[in-house]
Amino acid sequence: MPSDEDPPLYRAETTIPKSVQHGTHSLASALSPGASTPGSWNAHPWSPGSSNTSPPSTRSGSPELKVRFQTEKVDSAPRVDVAEVLPTVTKSVKSICFVGAGFVGGPTAAVIAYHNPDITVNVVDLNEARIAAWNSSQLPIHEDGLLKVVRTARDGTLDTMVKIPGLPRSLKLDARTPNLVFSTKVNEAIEVADVIFICVNTPTKTYGLGAGSMADISMVEGASRTVAQNAKKGAIIVEKSTVPCGTARVIQDIFKYYRPNDDFEILSNPEFLAEGTAVENLMHPDRILIGSARTLAGMKAAESLKNVYAAWVPQERIITVNTFSSELSKLVANTMLAQRISSMNAVSAMCEEIGLGSDVDDVSLALGQDSRIGPKFLQAGVGFGGSCFEKDILNLSYLARQLHLDVVADYWLGILKINEYQRERYVHRVVKELNGSLRGKKISVLGFAFKDGTNDTRNSIAVHIIKSLAEEMPLEIAIFDPGCASNEIMEEIEKIGLTKAQLERVNICSNWRDSVKQASAVCILTQWKQFRGAQLGRSTKASTVKTPSQPAIKTFVNGKLTEMAILELEAMVARELNMTGEDPLGRLKPAAAAQGFEVFGLAASMMEEISQEPVNWFEAASLMQEPRWVFDGRNVVDPIELQSLGFKVRGIGK
Ligand code: NAD
Repeated sequence: MPSDEDPPLYRAETTIPKSVQHGTHSLASALSPGASTPGSWNAHPWSPGSSNTSPPSTRSGSPELKVRFQTEKVDSAPRVDVAEVLPTVTKSVKSICFVGAGFVGGPTAAVIAYHNPDITVNVVDLNEARIAAWNSSQLPIHEDGLLKVVRTARDGTLDTMVKIPGLPRSLKLDARTPNLVFSTKVNEAIEVADVIFICVNTPTKTYGLGAGSMADISMVEGASRTVAQNAKKGAIIVEKSTVPCGTARVIQDIFKYYRPNDDFEILSNPEFLAEGTAVENLMHPDRILIGSARTLAGMKAAESLKNVYAAWVPQERIITVNTFSSELSKLVANTMLAQRISSMNAVSAMCEEIGLGSDVDDVSLALGQDSRIGPKFLQAGVGFGGSCFEKDILNLSYLARQLHLDVVADYWLGILKINEYQRERYVHRVVKELNGSLRGKKISVLGFAFKDGTNDTRNSIAVHIIKSLAEEMPLEIAIFDPGCASNEIMEEIEKIGLTKAQLERVNICSNWRDSVKQASAVCILTQWKQFRGAQLGRSTKASTVKTPSQPAIKTFVNGKLTEMAILELEAMVARELNMTGEDPLGRLKPAAAAQGFEVFGLAASMMEEISQEPVNWFEAASLMQEPRWVFDGRNVVDPIELQSLGFKVRGIGK
């Protein structure tokens, strides 16, 4: 798309109409020849020539801000006139550090860097192999759209001339300087940061007091100690990990111990992204939640963090509350999402017993149309897995128990009971339908990741099901997942404590054919679109990363188009010129070689070719053995169509 021939017609200006800043003008109208001239934009209070030169979202003393803080309830803290003081003290953020480059830290840091090209974002981790992968083109986390975001911010972009369909001349997009750095230099990155996100893992404790229910915050404590020893005075500390209520106070105590003479504000900013749609969720969050101490200093720190998000998130979606409410909201949000799944799974058990054609999917459809209920998280299945739901429910329930609210604790735990029950029912059904024994039979497992669209295998439902199936000593369990490398699957299988004899029967395949060949039954455990079938089933799901659904806010920053606006431009160019591919403007630099893998000796299997070919159920029927069972744990195939090919099919709640 770039062209060298035409001189640039439009150069982005620092002076912009207020309507564009607030997203009421579309990018196209801002760029169109008839748009306001720079001269006419100078009337706005933050335009050059006025004493206020920054836009409202980054300017601490804007009138809207004053009103907000004057009317806000400030818990038990002494009342202060925040508006009087705030304009002079809101921190300007130039450098951010993420401690923990995992499923949350990596993508969140990348999206923040992407939308804030003037802020340097360092992402540090103790895991050298993970950092090496972040520096390669084989990212350690597979999320739709993530590589493009990372490449744009990490590698910078090229000077680009964009020919806009319907306009006479080209638009020049300046090259972007890299501002996203992945490294293991933890202390160095912390030392220079204005804002430090603690984004380390918080698994359920497996030892001692509270084992099996309490969150293990030792990693948060460890990271906090490192941060406390290295952070510059006044840096803002952000608790991004999901933690028990009160953890911000624990972090504050660590800081008081190491830095008794310095003041630090600890904010809670839980992450609500869902794996599989992480980039889409980060680009268009339903809300950003920021918890702070309801003191002047706490609210100033919250405001600084709010400004970072305001680069692409509309102000009204950024909620500020107190730290405890913020920590609690995250646990309750995950618990309530899981509760919806368990509720539908309970209904699925009832549908199966009632018979008479009752179908849990019909019930979901009917419920989802009720605007008070809504359609999401109503799909019955073999249960929820993953690293978050279970641990967060346990965490919430543990908190209730600590507060002597046993009835409340048991109420939350009921969600997990149904989840476990659903898995057991599934395995019983498989064994029962195969005449009570799996000996001498091969079982194909399609899907290992805890959900589609991700390579995360932690606490996946498949792990639990495979363990139970392995106890039946089948001839073979052949696993295939289009999103997971074999070493990722094996690592998880090795944790479940199978005997040597059981482990020998587990095989990991790189395509569906090897998995189903000679199998007596297929167990579908993840909702990958590839399992719906090439000819059969419902249409495949489109890419999850949408083009911007809201007008680009802050179309220009420092004279340059924002990335949100460039995304809009890309979508327009791709649409008009019928282009596919993730870089229609030709801005990206050539992809980095995956040197990191060799340096850190990562298994070559990380780079293996995993087939993305959809399952051809017609062919699968000829490859499998009688009785050709399909146990559809995610209700993804069309049972009638598969039955017509000679399969026996059992869905959930049918
Ligand atoms: P993860 O295990 O993928 O990543 C955590 C990273 O932190 C690891 O790479 C680890 O090496 C690193 N780390 C640990 N201690 C460190 C230290 N002292 N210094 C530097 N690095 C250190 O975990 P995750 O899935 O990203 O989850 C992180 C937190 O976010 C958890 O509290 C989780 O509950 C929460 N969360 C996760 C999700 C999700 O979908 N995975 C969603 C929302 C919230």
